[in-house]
Amino acid sequence: MKSGWVDRDAEAMVADGAKVGIDPELSLRTYTTRLLGRDPKLVLHGGGNTSLKTKMRDLLGTEVEVLRVKASGADMASIEPAGFPALRLEPMRKLRALATIGDEELLGIERANLIEPRAPNPSVEVMLHAFLPHKFVDHTHATAVLSVINQPHGEEISAEVFGKHMAFVPYLMPGFGLAKKAIEVFERAPSCEGLILSKHGLVTFGETAREAYERMIAFVSRAEDFIARNRKSAAASPSARRPPPVAEVAPIVRGACSQKDDRSDGAWRRLVLDFRSSDAVLDFLDSKDLPRLSDAGVVTPDHTIRTKNWPLVLNAPAPARMGEFTQSAREKAQEFTTRYGDYFARHNKRAGGYKRELDPLPRVVLVRGLGLFGLGRTKADAVIAADIAEVWVECLRAAEAIGRFESISEADMFDCEYWPLEQVKLGARKEPPLLGQVAAITGAGGAIGAATAKCFAAAGAEVALLDVDRTAAREQANAVGAHALALACDVTDGGSVSAAFEKIAEHFGGVDIVVSNAGAAWQGRIGEVDENILHKSFELNFYGHQRVAQAAVRIMRVQGTGGCLLFNVSKQAVNPGPNFGPYGIPKAAALALMRQYALDYGADGIRANAVNADRIRSGLLTPQMIASRAEARGVSEKDYMTGNLLGREVAAEDVAQAFLHQALALKTTADVTTVDGGNIAAAMR
Ligand SMILES: [Zn+2]
Repeated sequence: MKSGWVDRDAEAMVADGAKVGIDPELSLRTYTTRLLGRDPKLVLHGGGNTSLKTKMRDLLGTEVEVLRVKASGADMASIEPAGFPALRLEPMRKLRALATIGDEELLGIERANLIEPRAPNPSVEVMLHAFLPHKFVDHTHATAVLSVINQPHGEEISAEVFGKHMAFVPYLMPGFGLAKKAIEVFERAPSCEGLILSKHGLVTFGETAREAYERMIAFVSRAEDFIARNRKSAAASPSARRPPPVAEVAPIVRGACSQKDDRSDGAWRRLVLDFRSSDAVLDFLDSKDLPRLSDAGVVTPDHTIRTKNWPLVLNAPAPARMGEFTQSAREKAQEFTTRYGDYFARHNKRAGGYKRELDPLPRVVLVRGLGLFGLGRTKADAVIAADIAEVWVECLRAAEAIGRFESISEADMFDCEYWPLEQVKLGARKEPPLLGQVAAITGAGGAIGAATAKCFAAAGAEVALLDVDRTAAREQANAVGAHALALACDVTDGGSVSAAFEKIAEHFGGVDIVVSNAGAAWQGRIGEVDENILHKSFELNFYGHQRVAQAAVRIMRVQGTGGCLLFNVSKQAVNPGPNFGPYGIPKAAALALMRQYALDYGADGIRANAVNADRIRSGLLTPQMIASRAEARGVSEKDYMTGNLLGREVAAEDVAQAFLHQALALKTTADVTTVDGGNIAAAMR
């Protein structure tokens, strides 16, 4: 591992900071923190923290000694100087006299000693930084170091690899106790350049930002070299890998790792998936030691809140026997949740019985011969779980190559998983109503599709935006957010629809809601219209809905957790307009299609509903069309757009809200919701 320090960059950071009054040391603290944070071999998703001891003026202008420490949950890769809340150092140090202190009480004291009262909470490892005397303190969970020290004889190996440069701190749960132990160890070995925290990570320190940072790089490099020198050449016995496509397996895994939500009949607690595969992952999954390794535990305590303590392991699926795989996946997932429940009950009793059980669903699933899935309530959480799982695989492989991997005890893991300060990192989320659900929207480049994608994402769903125009889909997906998926999809082409749904299953693990919205209007007097026009319109306005619904239902049935099909049928479906037959007739068929799906798949928990909307500014009703129709009727454009019982213009967002309502109404199927401002001739009868 090489130092990422570049003089020019460090100087630029100091110069930029000086312009807005930031102390040069804090600028350099920010600079090296980012260097550490951008390397996943050192720091991953909130693991790791850094600090600086300096002086500053408090709000009354008195100069005080402060500790500036990374804020809890802040991302080191992109941290700003404001991401280091400042605490009065002296009162923090005095706490060393206490034998123990409760988490709440400690947090209260920390907050009372913040220079800026509204600053974010300091890192949960703040006391480690406060007690150590050094100006700069860096702490990471470097993978190579964990491979070396997470061994039955970790202390001896640590001495062999790091010599007297690093002092060894036996395992204690992160927090106040560990901080006290660390300073005791340091005081017995005051010439050391850092500390090894058993089964957890390492700390380096220095008088300058560069010294502390480059010591970190040097010690991690030592661990890397040690692994390279001592690696036993493992005899690879790769299985003959002909796994089915990820898109086939993911919905099975997703369905198995879902739970009925007792709060409402028909509701499910679902997770979103993120798939990873690599030679390293596949070799690991082929290992004959997989049963032992998969139960061996996390590589550093704070991973447990993201991945739980062990993954769900599934056997290799064979393409011709997917039914068997589904059955076994469901049984194994059930065993997993039972085991998790037992683990919770056992340790909750020991801890006093007042903890609240987290959901018992797996967060990492290993599928032999295929790869691994990270699972989360959002795509972002699934990605984090998968990132950590990949590092876990890497760390265990290296540990096993030089010895035998050993983690902390199950009791220690529980104490970390259910440590309130760690749970805070996950945020006290009020769960939005569609959290964990995946929605696919066709025609998402257009006004109604785009508004629906935004509305569903705001309600917590992960969204896939499908449009025949890839650029339009991309643009709208960008407006929704980083995890929205944009796909080119021509609903008049069966192959294109299948390919899009395969990509959705690969990317999110499956699909729960489909808004079949793509459509276009053709006109012609029905007795004279060219049959080709009718064919074209049926291809898009009827068969398009059928292809999309069929592809979605296939995945929903594999998941086994119900689902929801939503169709955009125009008012033409119930109230035909003159010369609009080529558009209205396939739309009327689409309305019948919706009812047929409701009828045929109700027993699978799959609901089908439609929105009957009218007169919405979109690609189907362009400004030119509005102008010409208003003129034909001899009214103003405004009067044309508000020509309904309520006298209100209907917007794409109103249609989106109707779809959202239908997606949430778990007891409603075969329903048509009218969104047209009131038009008695088009009312459902
Ligand atoms: Zn740590």
